Amino acid sequence: MNLASCIQPSKIKPEFCVPFNFRVLGGQVLVISDLGDWLFLSPDEFTAFIEGRPAADEPLYERLKDKNLIAAEIDKKAVADRWQRENKPLFHGPSLHTLALTSRSNQACRYSGAASVGMEATDTDMTVAIAERAIDLAFQTTSPTVSIALRGAEPLANWEVLQHAVEYARQKNALAGKGLSLSVQSNLALLDDEKLSYLVDRRVQISTRLDGPADLHDALNAWTDGSAHAKTTEWIAKINKAYADLNLDADLYRVPVTVTLARPSLGRVPEIVAQLVAVGARSVRLQRLDTFGLPQDVAAELGISMDEFLAAFSEAVELLIEANRKGTRIAERHAGTMLAKLLGESDPSDLGLRTPGTSCIGQLAYGADGRVFSSEEGRLCDVAGDPMFEIGTVTSSYQSLVSGGGTRAFVMAGLQDSQPDCVNCAYKPLCGQQVEGNYKTQGSLHGRMRDSSWCKQHKTLFDGFTQKLRDASEADRALLRRWAEHQTLEHFMLQREAL
Ligand code: SF4
Repeated sequence: MNLASCIQPSKIKPEFCVPFNFRVLGGQVLVISDLGDWLFLSPDEFTAFIEGRPAADEPLYERLKDKNLIAAEIDKKAVADRWQRENKPLFHGPSLHTLALTSRSNQACRYSGAASVGMEATDTDMTVAIAERAIDLAFQTTSPTVSIALRGAEPLANWEVLQHAVEYARQKNALAGKGLSLSVQSNLALLDDEKLSYLVDRRVQISTRLDGPADLHDALNAWTDGSAHAKTTEWIAKINKAYADLNLDADLYRVPVTVTLARPSLGRVPEIVAQLVAVGARSVRLQRLDTFGLPQDVAAELGISMDEFLAAFSEAVELLIEANRKGTRIAERHAGTMLAKLLGESDPSDLGLRTPGTSCIGQLAYGADGRVFSSEEGRLCDVAGDPMFEIGTVTSSYQSLVSGGGTRAFVMAGLQDSQPDCVNCAYKPLCGQQVEGNYKTQGSLHGRMRDSSWCKQHKTLFDGFTQKLRDASEADRALLRRWAEHQTLEHFMLQREAL
């Protein structure tokens, strides 16, 4: 398609259109307004649109109006309300607070690098005093919701502090009265019936990692006491049963699973998806192995290119869609976030894709030694040897953490409008930035989007999902809409409790 032949500058009527960007895809022009409404147009329709030619009684006019693309038809109040709703998190402080309880792990995950040390290294544990101070800071946020994520190489290794953090956060919330959610991500091997009963009783959501069938998972997660895969799948089943015993909706209350795709995963995507279906997962996240900070030989052996990841991810999404067609409700979370953006269903509190990014103003991460970072990604950057994203300690004031010099630099760099490539990109209203990722992959907070793997990932996936939504059958569209729906897990959302 020759775009130049569609555009005659002297005929353009900018006053007819709302501000928009466009992108040529598969012989059509994808038009996306600054509000994120989008529509595919044929080349002739696009020319008519920018020349302001469609008359009010034409079907094209209706289609453009329906997508808020005609300036004269915009309901300004509705538009302003919508912008405010979609950007709600920008009006308050960080909601996600991640505590790294320890660097100890009972399993030797091959891709965790320096983030994981042996079980004897108890000096890497977070203390009760640091955990309390971190939670004190978390509750100073102006956000009406607080999510405390208990992380670390294997957080169950520091069980006493984990329990204390849970009780302390609940106690703080008895006064604060915020929407509090607590979660722990674990390999589950240190779980026992008593710990499970405690976590279920205290409404701590449990998530895990599962990298595929037994040989694949065990090759990536070595455990001297047996098969890591057997232990993880055994406990996934027990946790799901515990939720079912509480009569919680079985389509919502299942252990969320993260899958890391590394070189041994390539060519095995159908087996990985079959494994996720077999353990009854309902919410999965497929991520590319992050090689930042890994020893060179491990990175070379396990790392995959963005092209390899995107091919594997797309294959997995197709297989997950097929599983849904056959009646299994299983959704991929990153795809869900992108679809939610495209369908106007995004959860305002979603930290996935937004501008400015979430560093410091959407989330904070607390190291076991009491240092505070822009995000969990920023903390992991420090674990790999670069403290670039350290913004203070748990003794710093909340004000200095959310408005200090480093924080301001991260926020400015995380604005799409400050990115030379993003500013003219059709996906700008739907996309987001992660300054930690830019720094790790390109050596600067801003990065350079035309060479960025982050940009490539999002541009490719948005291209794929817009065309998929355009071409989907009614049934598939409903299925994809389900992926995009925000499901509040009320059971894990604690409100004010009596002391
Ligand atoms: S990161 Fe890439 S896809 Fe996203 S808005 Fe920027 S240029 Fe577009």
